[in-house]
Amino acid sequence: MVRLVLVLGDQLSGDVAALRAADKAKDVVVMAEVMAEGASVPHHPQKIALILSAMRKFAAALQSGGWQVAYSRLDDPENSQTIQGELLRRAAEFGAGEVLATKPGEWRVLRDLQDLPLPVTVLPDDRFLCSEADFAIWAEGRKQLRMEWFYREMRRKTGLLMDGDQPAGGQWNFDHDNRKPGKADLLRPCPRDFAPDAVVEEVLTLVEARFRHFGRLRPFRWATDRTGALAALTEFVADRLPRFGDEQDAMLEGEAYLSHALLSPYLNLGLLGPMEVCLAAEAAWRAGRVPIAAAEGFIRQIIGWREYVRGIWALQGPEYLKKNALKHSRALPAVYWGAATRMACMTAAVGQTRALAYAHHIQRLMVTGNFALLAGVDPAEVHEWYLSVYIDAFEWVEAPNVLGMSQFADGGLLGSKPYVSSGAYINRMSDHCAGCSYKVKDKVGESACPFNLLYWHFLDRHRSRFKANPRMGQMYRVWDAMDTGHRTAVLDGAERVLAALDAGEAV
Ligand SMILES: Cc1cc2nc3c(=O)[nH]c(=O)nc-3n(C[C@H](O)[C@H](O)[C@H](O)COP(=O)(O)OP(=O)(O)OC[C@H]3O[C@@H](n4cnc5c(N)ncnc54)[C@H](O)[C@@H]3O)c2cc1C
Ligand code: SF4
Repeated sequence: MVRLVLVLGDQLSGDVAALRAADKAKDVVVMAEVMAEGASVPHHPQKIALILSAMRKFAAALQSGGWQVAYSRLDDPENSQTIQGELLRRAAEFGAGEVLATKPGEWRVLRDLQDLPLPVTVLPDDRFLCSEADFAIWAEGRKQLRMEWFYREMRRKTGLLMDGDQPAGGQWNFDHDNRKPGKADLLRPCPRDFAPDAVVEEVLTLVEARFRHFGRLRPFRWATDRTGALAALTEFVADRLPRFGDEQDAMLEGEAYLSHALLSPYLNLGLLGPMEVCLAAEAAWRAGRVPIAAAEGFIRQIIGWREYVRGIWALQGPEYLKKNALKHSRALPAVYWGAATRMACMTAAVGQTRALAYAHHIQRLMVTGNFALLAGVDPAEVHEWYLSVYIDAFEWVEAPNVLGMSQFADGGLLGSKPYVSSGAYINRMSDHCAGCSYKVKDKVGESACPFNLLYWHFLDRHRSRFKANPRMGQMYRVWDAMDTGHRTAVLDGAERVLAALDAGEAV
């Protein structure tokens, strides 16, 4: 009997499990562009365009490789505009009695597949270096799931940057050599742009006509097939990896990319695999082209953080999406959707997100994430924003980063303390404060940096939870040592900021 082989928009790898299990001679690959996915949250137009363009090219490659592909375009009149609808339509068309799928990276989509009135076999997504089962074994019985211990196991398991059973260079982690403040450099290499070809242009026109979401569609700079993604990898390793570690946490006005990889969309869509990008970085170090701190820092992001958050997502299940340990309930402030703000760091991070669908890790964690956490925004709203606005956002990777790492909504499963900071951190790592209407050195008064006010307000209102935390006790001692009048002025200032956010006024 004919089977339908479902390939989703982030499963564009020739060796994805459902394709490996299928019979090219008999089975029919189903790929569908549907409004239900494009508008499940208000995805950034560049993200929609990237996924649709990459799907069309992947389908064409499968067809040239001899597969029969039933491809539904978004504007096909017959398109039912849901994945389930398209599977049922194709089942009737081809007389298919079963669906083969690779596990989706979003619980909602998995549930929809399981609800189909057809037998569905969901195979594990084995494009990761740590299977869900292996992660569960590692996590078993641990009170805290520390990424660093997981990462060391992954180094041993993969053999990456290992000399026998010892870490290459004599250390597991070279972060103390990394993370320098940002410095302007006119000679810093810029990543190349991939000019849209005819396939991409057609998709851009379609997206322009159908989606009115936050975010600019053009210029569209992304690669949309494996060849382009490989070129992006080669360029990153040659040009930016050498400074990756140094510039990992830096933020500079007008410098969106610094030495970051810009590879997450390609990895997450399946155009690149995690092992090949790590091997490329390791080879560059072994050939003496990049420092070990840079290669190690990059490899840690992939076999450490990336695999780790995926393990957390799988282990915690759909209930994780509802976590709200700090009981935060404020609506997401309008500044996240581009409303005016006097905060230069937020203007830069949100403006860049709107223009490029990209912001790097520290902008996401220590600017937009930090501000939402300090302001007490409902983590579900924060989650939806991140899932919407970034080119690389898929639930399995976005949710643990946002709900766990950034918003502490899981109560500390991912991190032993919340990632909160006053303006001092942003001032150290960026050049934003110099041009801001607020003064980062001011602790109270009209010109005080809102991060300074909200930081102490956060600590004060969550005292019962964090006072005994060994990594936070010192900050409580500093707060308690301030005189009462100063503390009252700080808290009043923070309340004014929060009231202005609630009233939709520019902060
Ligand atoms: C609040 C928040 C939300 C995030 N949401 C996403 C998301 O939706 N999708 C996503 O892919 N990443 C997410 N990240 C992680 C990280 O910000 C992005 O992977 C990174 O910015 C992508 O850009 P890059 O390729 O230039 O990465 P680089 O900084 O150059 O890092 C190299 C690679 O390491 C991987 N990586 C680094 N950090 C992480 C991490 N914490 N989790 C998973 N992979 C990581 C990515 O594959 C990335 O391509 C989030 C981080 C935070 C703090
Ligand atoms: S002063 Fe505060 S609000 Fe302004 S850029 Fe610096 S950290 Fe951001």
